[in-house]
Amino acid sequence: MEAAGQQSFFAPAPLEFPAPEPAPPPLRVPAPVQAGPPLRVGILGSGSGGNAVVVESGDRRILIDAGFSCRELARRMALLDVDPKSIAAVVLTHEHQDHCRGVDGFAKRYKVPVLATAGTREGAGLREDRFRSTVLIRSGEPREVAGFVIEPFLIPHDAAEPVGFVVEDPCGRRLGLVADVGCRTSLAWGRLRDLDVLVLETNHDLDMLRNGPYPWSLKQRVAGRHGHLSNREAAEGLPELMGGRLSWVVLYHLSRTNNLPALAAAAIGEALDREGCPARLAVTEQDHPTPWLEV
Ligand SMILES: [Zn+2]
Ligand SMILES: [Zn+2]
Repeated sequence: MEAAGQQSFFAPAPLEFPAPEPAPPPLRVPAPVQAGPPLRVGILGSGSGGNAVVVESGDRRILIDAGFSCRELARRMALLDVDPKSIAAVVLTHEHQDHCRGVDGFAKRYKVPVLATAGTREGAGLREDRFRSTVLIRSGEPREVAGFVIEPFLIPHDAAEPVGFVVEDPCGRRLGLVADVGCRTSLAWGRLRDLDVLVLETNHDLDMLRNGPYPWSLKQRVAGRHGHLSNREAAEGLPELMGGRLSWVVLYHLSRTNNLPALAAAAIGEALDREGCPARLAVTEQDHPTPWLEV
């Protein structure tokens, strides 16, 4: 039998759900897609043990998050035939260790700038005297780096100033990444438009989380509005993001304890089928890079 507190797990107080705000206007009109090298996405690994994504167009490459040690980042890049010296910048979502573990070492060793919000810079301890090349980014302010346009947008998560991104490559192809996000917001979902690749958190299966070994307080944190997105929430939020050009949906930041790749893939696959969306599905792993995804 469930304790009284557990009953509120799936039925939070209505006050926790303010009326949704209207979706914000587009930040900028996406550039028309031009001929050129493909946009390639190399997920080096994903989950609470570390997250990092190489985004590539031709010989231009950036890294989103650096949640493995510098050495491990280089090892995983080698598996995808990426020279770490070719990374032009590291862009951070937030300061949690599974996103920042290797940023200090990587940025120093390969002399690359780190793009981060002020809150993330502070939270990650990227002090100016050590990281003179830290570039501050802000939600709602697009910034160009290595030919990519990065559009950060604030997301709800228990970090100082966490963001998701839309990254537009020099040919106009667009990747959206939203993870470590407690719930769908009109801001984030409004920004994730006209995407070719969507990297979406499917952190947990609600039943596995509820029945799993986490202490109750941690279960509440994970499932809360500043925690992580469940398979079900991701599936419910997906139809809005299925633009006509969406080619890949990448399931990201799966919990080893509270999720199974097959459960996440089933939930998202059903949502794609229901909407008749032909986008392909890729499930990321913690221990191995995902083979290159290309559009
Ligand atoms: Zn994380
Ligand atoms: Zn986090």
